[in-house]
Amino acid sequence: MDAPIDLRSDTVTQPTEAMKAAMMASPLGDDVLGDDPTVNLLQDRCADMFGKEAACFVPSGSMANQVAIRAQTRPGDEILCHEHSHVYLYEAGAWAALSGCSIALIKGDRGQFDPEDVQAAIRMNDHHFPQSRLLCLENTQNRGGGAIWPLDRLEAVTAEGSKHQLKRHLDGARIWNACAATGITPATYASHFDTVSACFSKGLGCPVGSIICGDDETIQRVHRMRKLLGGTMRQSGMLAGAALYALDHHLDRLTEDHAHARRLADAAAGCAGITLDPSSIDTNILYVDVPMNAAQLVERLESRGLRCLDTGPHTIRLVTSLAVDAAAIERACEILQAALSPEAVW
Ligand SMILES: *Cc1c(COP(=O)(O)O)cnc(C)c1O
Repeated sequence: MDAPIDLRSDTVTQPTEAMKAAMMASPLGDDVLGDDPTVNLLQDRCADMFGKEAACFVPSGSMANQVAIRAQTRPGDEILCHEHSHVYLYEAGAWAALSGCSIALIKGDRGQFDPEDVQAAIRMNDHHFPQSRLLCLENTQNRGGGAIWPLDRLEAVTAEGSKHQLKRHLDGARIWNACAATGITPATYASHFDTVSACFSKGLGCPVGSIICGDDETIQRVHRMRKLLGGTMRQSGMLAGAALYALDHHLDRLTEDHAHARRLADAAAGCAGITLDPSSIDTNILYVDVPMNAAQLVERLESRGLRCLDTGPHTIRLVTSLAVDAAAIERACEILQAALSPEAVW
């Protein structure tokens, strides 16, 4: 039997042979002592790419977000973010545990919201209330189905935040997917934020690593927080080398993943009992509401060679990446359609 087609996440990607060669060839130093040339090169390149003064290489996207929160808040402050944001849902409550913050949750379709929602979530300046301090946006929005924030909406929302003296952080775990899809540069998105995080370990295909960018003073605090959390690494140039390779070779190809997600959406949309608008798929993440038990469907799909995740009682998630080529996507479509058809023999 063929190897299973893995659409659980874009984190399942393995480094290619060429990426491994780049990792092996990377000059190394001791990054804790500040002299790993490959890490320094990656940090400089990312700072430049996002139009910020400085950058810090960290082990994970969660750490990138949480050091940014910690560096820009004080205990008792309040963070504002969407109720489906990764920062809130999937980082083990670190905003409370590590930064002592409370969180004000904002609702809205596909992980997005409007300036009025920010205004409504901001606390009165009164000693009874926590101090509203940091506004977090996510682009693309994972639980929002890989949705891209329209630039004008993002501008309006962040402008509302700065009008109220909020710091602004962008969880850009998949910002390069947004850039590939829209042609908008990382620096344009980043210009509306004080700090921006981005992941090399998702669609870019690296084994490990994320970056956090901001001004010199904030990134100095980020460095301290990374140490405090045990996230400083030594010869991490091997990992930074993978990231540099990905920035050179894996950015433009992200549009292929987006086309593959649309193809899967077309296939699913043709099935009985599925309501799905393929044109709503902005990038590489596809949620499908299914008319049967999602956990059972996932088991069935797995037995037929397609791996994906159930993310609710009647929802499955499929994520495309460089781990899955066009031929595998065609097979995935067939497996999906067969499992969803009313004639499917379970
Ligand atoms: C994956 C992801 C992260 C970071 O996840 P790690 O597993 O900690 O690297 C952060 N934000 C979003 C939106 C993500 O999808």
